[in-house]
Amino acid sequence: MTTAGPFANILHQETIRRLAGDRTFERGRVYQSEGRVSDLARQSGALTAKVAGETEYLVRLWVKDDNLAFHCSCPVGQEQTFCKHAVAVALTWLASPRGMLAASLDKDAVAAALDGIPRTGLVELLMEEAAQNAALRERILERAKTPGGPPSGRKS
Ligand SMILES: [Zn+2]
Repeated sequence: MTTAGPFANILHQETIRRLAGDRTFERGRVYQSEGRVSDLARQSGALTAKVAGETEYLVRLWVKDDNLAFHCSCPVGQEQTFCKHAVAVALTWLASPRGMLAASLDKDAVAAALDGIPRTGLVELLMEEAAQNAALRERILERAKTPGGPPSGRKS
C-alpha cells in the first residue's frame, strides 16, 4: 500500500500546465491565489474540493493509469477539458503539502526537521518510540553493533 499516494508522483506544476495549457493554468493560479478553493480533502485516493467561480463548482482529481484524471461540475470540465477550477485545486494541494493532506512523506521536510533537533532530543524521541516499537528496538540494537556507518570501509 502506498500511503504517500500517487499524487506525489503525478501532480506537479508542469503536469498541470501541460494538461490545462498556459492560459487556463494562469487563470487557475489566480483562483488559487484568491483563495477560491475550499473544503480540500483527500478521500479514497482522490482529491476533492469546492471552487468559488460564477457559482460553486465541485472538483475531483485522481490518478488513473499514471495520469491525472479530473472532473469538474462546470461546463468546461464536463467536456473533459482540464479547467481553471481543476488547476486551482491542484495548485492548492501543491501549496499545502504540510496541511491536512501531509499524509504523504516529505523526506526533505523530515530530514530538515531532524537536523534541527539536538541530539538529546533525538535520543528522547527514539526512546519514546522504541518503548512501543519492538522492531525499532531491534534495529537500534542492531545498528549499535555496527558503528561507523555503512559497512564499506574495511579499515585495518
Ligand atoms: Zn471547472
